[in-house]
Amino acid sequence: MQKITKRVASAIMCIFLVVALFTSVFFVVENAHHQCTNKEGCPICAEIVQSLNFIAGIRLLPAPAILIIIAQMAFFVVQEICQQLDNHTTLISLKVELLD
Ligand SMILES: [Zn+2]
Repeated sequence: MQKITKRVASAIMCIFLVVALFTSVFFVVENAHHQCTNKEGCPICAEIVQSLNFIAGIRLLPAPAILIIIAQMAFFVVQEICQQLDNHTTLISLKVELLD
């Protein structure tokens, strides 16, 4: 039971990491041509700087580790789907003897 909890927790953390990375990249690309009128306290410029700092921090993680995590998540999903497909039972699989 605890093994499943760890897997679910790691999958959720990985999903949050990937979503945060993609939203940061999307925000920076979306506001790349931002027409800034207030250089001092522009919230969009501040958010762009925070997003770039987040992306730079994530970049420090080794890329193979991220690929391994994504591959592991895909493996768990495929494993669960296969397990769900194998769980169907029939009279033949239960070896029920039909007597007329
Ligand atoms: Zn600005």
